[in-house]
Amino acid sequence: MPKFARVLVDDSAGKAFDYELPEAVAGTLQPGSRVRVPVRTRTALATVIELLDETDVPGVKLITAVVSAEPILSPLLLKLGAWMADYYCCSIEQAMKAVLPNVIRKAEVGHRTQLFARLAREVAAEEIETLKKKAPLQAAALAFLTEAAKPVAVAELTEKCDATHAVIQALVKKGLVLTETTTVERDPHQSETFLHAGKLEMNAEQLAVFARVSAALGASSPALAPAPDPDPQRRGKQRDQDQEQEQEQESGPPAKPILLHGVTGSGKTEIYLQAIELVLNRGQTAIMLVPEISLTPQTVERFKSRFAATQHEVAVLHSHLSEGERHDEWHRIRTGRARIVIGARSAIFAPCANIGLIVVDEEHENTYKQEETPRYHGRDIAVLRARMEGCAIVLGSATPSLESFHNAQLGKYELLRLTQRVDDKKMPFIRIMDMRMESKNKGAILSERLITAINDRLAKKEQTILFLNRRGFSTSLICEKCGHVCECPNCSVALTFHRAAGRVVCHICGHQAVAPGKCPECRDPGIKYSGTGTEKVEDIVGKCFPTAVVKRMDADAMTRKDAFRETLGAFKVGKIDILVGTQMIAKGLHFPNVTLVGIINADLSLHLPDFRAGERTFQLLTQVAGRCGRGDVEGEVFVQSFTPFSPSIQFARHHDFDGFWEQEIEFRRQWDYPPFSHLVLIVIRSQHQQRAEFSAQTLHRRLKDALPPNTTLSEPAPAPLEKSHGNYRFHLMLRTHAILRLSRHLAGVLEKLTFPEDVIVTVDVDAYQLL
Ligand code: ADP
Ligand code: ZN
Repeated sequence: MPKFARVLVDDSAGKAFDYELPEAVAGTLQPGSRVRVPVRTRTALATVIELLDETDVPGVKLITAVVSAEPILSPLLLKLGAWMADYYCCSIEQAMKAVLPNVIRKAEVGHRTQLFARLAREVAAEEIETLKKKAPLQAAALAFLTEAAKPVAVAELTEKCDATHAVIQALVKKGLVLTETTTVERDPHQSETFLHAGKLEMNAEQLAVFARVSAALGASSPALAPAPDPDPQRRGKQRDQDQEQEQEQESGPPAKPILLHGVTGSGKTEIYLQAIELVLNRGQTAIMLVPEISLTPQTVERFKSRFAATQHEVAVLHSHLSEGERHDEWHRIRTGRARIVIGARSAIFAPCANIGLIVVDEEHENTYKQEETPRYHGRDIAVLRARMEGCAIVLGSATPSLESFHNAQLGKYELLRLTQRVDDKKMPFIRIMDMRMESKNKGAILSERLITAINDRLAKKEQTILFLNRRGFSTSLICEKCGHVCECPNCSVALTFHRAAGRVVCHICGHQAVAPGKCPECRDPGIKYSGTGTEKVEDIVGKCFPTAVVKRMDADAMTRKDAFRETLGAFKVGKIDILVGTQMIAKGLHFPNVTLVGIINADLSLHLPDFRAGERTFQLLTQVAGRCGRGDVEGEVFVQSFTPFSPSIQFARHHDFDGFWEQEIEFRRQWDYPPFSHLVLIVIRSQHQQRAEFSAQTLHRRLKDALPPNTTLSEPAPAPLEKSHGNYRFHLMLRTHAILRLSRHLAGVLEKLTFPEDVIVTVDVDAYQLL
């Protein structure tokens, strides 16, 4: 029997330490068990990663206590954590923080228990009648329990019967009632009921895709069963393909990841739902990743409704869960009671066993990238986990990332396509408004034709969405006399004016101040508020269309917990005519009565110092446009721009992903940007500008010494966002074709270097945030 354990101590630098096992627990611990161990003068939580028969470390200490003998991490998840540490150049301890939710690591929150009451024996109606005269409350409680015919929470019982605990205790004493403590689950969707919604009959394109997905699942496709056949010829071909694939499955390696490129509204989600159903029927589990932003009530509702009969099998993981809810969902998944996990990025670490399918919806979304250590990409981890699990994976999007599409072109992924909206609904018609031409309407926020179009919708009782990815009222304050710009004292950005709050706010660090009435520098009252945010759009739209109901949806308007859900609900039933919002409304939402979408300023994302600016703009325009025309009436999109001929806008206008891809991939190839290389961004920051700069130069010198082949290193330079949260920031950018070698080289160099105390160095492998 092993005598020692190698453990990872939480909050340590990620080194493993050996401890001796107390005899009593030696047989119970496994890799993945949680223990408490002595560290210097205190004790700390730790995870067992290996059991050892002997150790050559002298004087090992004894494990203090066992927190949970049952492994909380499978060997596979432990391996995934180790891989992340290696690839993303962080400590294994940091990687494990992502793999294991805080609430589980800390083991402070337990299961919730509740006191339940039930009848100790059958109670006759006469008995209750007799009791009524002497003790009416006791009688009422008894009657309630008889009626319920199952255990009732004492809290509920006392409330419903207006009784106290003493009343229940009296019944216990009389031997009529038993009470017992039971573990109950916290259910974030407790108050909602979900009606079962049946499968939809898939169209020909969906069937073809579904056949390939089920082939990847290793199942025979129900598409082969005799069903109404919209296109027999295609079906014949399909059948041959299926048979081929099945043979491949029997003999060969696991199926390739599938990239599903389907235009907005083409029925991708329906395919996910049916594939997951197939997986469940085979006794397996499934993970469905969605960007946090689209974890709207709509998505959850759709899943909960489809699987209404086995609703308790659906676990939902997102950032708004309480610690207790997260704890319970995690245990529900680990014990196999929940078999479908829907969640944001970190749900990829859900402790499911026997996974059949992983779906990454909107795989191009940047929210899959974690912007703090460990800086992993949820989609990439999903692909890796699927490979480790030997399960199928589908990456879906209307605007696939260049990375994934490149993989499909290389044959690493299987590319499947849905080119039509379901029911032959047309793609919305996109018009580009050249704002340079709005001469008689100079400085206007809404072009003449957009105003006409909105009026038209109002008359027809149809709905409009106006999109602008910028919060606040005015986006800058400039003194017309001395030229002073109100900047954040902590960051190198202009402050945004929020009119409702009467304050100027920094969107980087949150710094706030009362909005100045005159220039803080020269005291001139002629300070000018300029630039447009959603708050101003809402204001102008309200004045322009006085009879319309206008509502704004952005981070400022949606601070209340239920505001998001309520506003969407009101919009859905037509109580709102015009919805103004930020990216919060850009994605995943589905409103049949929206026939007009206006993009107030398409140029915003286009001119950022980021090689992905074109890709982001194309994706954003396509997604926002996709919100409209989902009902019976064809949709129309107005895109306002000062650079109407930029390729991203033009390709989005023509719904031409392939055209966009061809020109964008050429640009990436020329400059050796991702997906042709891996990009690593190192940020060196300090409150002292010179220290940051000096540290960046030192690091640059060290890295240069032994750079892996096929790697380029930029000169240290101030970051585009030079100052943030009071820190001066410098960049080093690396591009490489040998990412693991570079990560290891970086880790080695950083370990040997010591920086001044207030200098912080972060390494971002496969960086997306380049400011
Ligand atoms: P996507 O995920 O590609 O945006 P969805 O799966 O959300 O598309 O489908 C768009 C709409 O069409 C949804 O309301 C969905 O219920 C409906 N839908 C999907 N597939 C079908 C089908 N085969 N027949 C009828 N309606 C469908
Ligand atoms: Zn700031």
